[in-house]
Amino acid sequence: MYWHGGRIDWGDRSQVKVEWPLFRRALGYFKPHWKVAIGVIACIAFGSVVSLAPAWSIQQLIQHAFTNFSYGLIVFLVAVSLLGTALDSLSGVLQSYLRAQISQGIMYDLRHELFGRMLKQSVSFFTRSRTGDVMSRLSNDVSGIQDVVSGTVFDAISNIGMFTAAVIYMAVQSWQLTLVALAVVPLFALPTRRVGTRTFLARKDTQAQLSKVTAFMQETIGISGVLLVKAFGKERSEMARFRGLTDELRRLEIRQTMVGRWFFMIMRLLGSGGPAVIFLAGFWLVKVHLASPAVVLTFGTVLLGRLYGPVSTFAGLQVNVIGSLALFQRIFEYIDLPFEVDEKPDAKPLEPGGGRVTFEGVTFSYRADAPPALENVAFEIQPGQLAALVGPSGAGKTTVTSLVPRFYDPQQGRVLIDGQDVRDVTLESLAAQLGIVFQDTFLFHDTVRANLLYARPGATQDEMVAAARAANIHDFIESLPDGYETIVGERGHRLSGGEKQRMAIARVILRDPRILILDEATSNLDSESEHLIQAALRPLMQDRTSIVIAHRLSTILAADVILVLDGGKLVEQGTHFELLQRGGLYAKLYERQFAAAERAVV
Ligand code: ADP
Repeated sequence: MYWHGGRIDWGDRSQVKVEWPLFRRALGYFKPHWKVAIGVIACIAFGSVVSLAPAWSIQQLIQHAFTNFSYGLIVFLVAVSLLGTALDSLSGVLQSYLRAQISQGIMYDLRHELFGRMLKQSVSFFTRSRTGDVMSRLSNDVSGIQDVVSGTVFDAISNIGMFTAAVIYMAVQSWQLTLVALAVVPLFALPTRRVGTRTFLARKDTQAQLSKVTAFMQETIGISGVLLVKAFGKERSEMARFRGLTDELRRLEIRQTMVGRWFFMIMRLLGSGGPAVIFLAGFWLVKVHLASPAVVLTFGTVLLGRLYGPVSTFAGLQVNVIGSLALFQRIFEYIDLPFEVDEKPDAKPLEPGGGRVTFEGVTFSYRADAPPALENVAFEIQPGQLAALVGPSGAGKTTVTSLVPRFYDPQQGRVLIDGQDVRDVTLESLAAQLGIVFQDTFLFHDTVRANLLYARPGATQDEMVAAARAANIHDFIESLPDGYETIVGERGHRLSGGEKQRMAIARVILRDPRILILDEATSNLDSESEHLIQAALRPLMQDRTSIVIAHRLSTILAADVILVLDGGKLVEQGTHFELLQRGGLYAKLYERQFAAAERAVV
């Protein structure tokens, strides 16, 4: 959809799926709130009746008060009119409350459903999608629905109520004039669907652009983004990119506001022509004694408004509803994404065992069109053993460790823990047996305590301190301004690499898993930090199966089994001395990385 010399090209109309199933599905979210909805409808019915009081009073005033002048009657009629308006307003207040209950309830349901679905998406979904886009759907699109939900549906009902009440009242007064008034009505409804489709398209574009802006902001003014921007001195160019994106957003928002303005203007013109028609026809009816002047006057001044008001609002609502389906469609798109890694319906908890890890003929690719990251990989790590994964960068070491916690599922072969396929057990019981220390430690923007207890919320103060001591981080935490209550910045940017990794180790110690997966930091930690980490790891690895992406000689030497990967294949497997004797890839890697350093030290 582009501007062509000021004209809008609305693109391929066939792509617009403003269909009944989408509408019905959106409407389905009202279902759980039906009781409150009945309350709203009762308020609407009550309101449409009492709000007719002023019209009735005016008609009575014209008919009786001036011919049969009586203060009592005037006061009475004015009082009825005021009372009617007051009751109408009161029911309006109650109605707003109930509507808010429903709209907020629906948004709550949608947010929960969407967030739950997102949490259960596989890791590969998050490597593919842009965080900002997910965020935007969760926040912008869901809140965009608020007006529609609280307004549209009930406005439609209340307008139908108002319209019906007005028609009945008018028909009782003069059916001939009512027919005249109704004659102009169908004209309103004609172009609404067309305008609705345009609104739908405009909304879709606007929300998509809003997603882009949100994603851009989220990537750029997050800590990692800001570091990159500053390191490359990109402030000006980022500002320019932002201006470009928001410029487009402004244009789309304005376009969305303007969609259908002509249509609404024509409706208003038609509405204002109404009284003229009524007076012309009405006074002819007066002449032939079929209506009284009072009736014609109230029709032309008050009642017609009560008829056309609802009809034009109703047409506007139809446009709004179709437009808002764009928001629902964006939300449903994400709700409907299948889970790539899902728990089987009959999944059982992982039976606790010694912690044997087996790969059986595992082949895995990240994408269908990519070469496999692992090809026919088979090995077994016995309970309590330390296995070191080594190999050149890109060999598949991280991939091996990602398949154990089911960050991904292999296309062929099986991953087993104590003889149980990880795909057959519940995700929670699987996670409970695994402790993972990533290279890049993620910490929440929260206190040290909250970050540690994330691993085991029920842990006591003593257990937490013991874990921190074992991870050699307790003294450091105590030295912070607020000790365990100190807030660590997002992603732990206020801590050094070594401190973060020790925090992660403390977290895993608290978790007390049977299998430990560790990605040793490749970054050069100072030797003090390094020593503290090694000292923390030693007891952690004891009595547990450990799979370590090893970068340190000490780890490799301590390993019970070394798995050597190259280009996604397991090329060698054995202990340090066995593999050195073979003189294969391991011997070559060892010679290149460590032997020279060792000789230098000796
Ligand atoms: P290592 O940990 O040994 O350095 P990895 O297991 O990270 O290697 O990567 C193995 C191969 O898979 C590499 O070719 C890498 O580019 C690719 N790869 C890793 N992660 C992804 C991903 N999320 N999507 C696509 N390819 C990936």
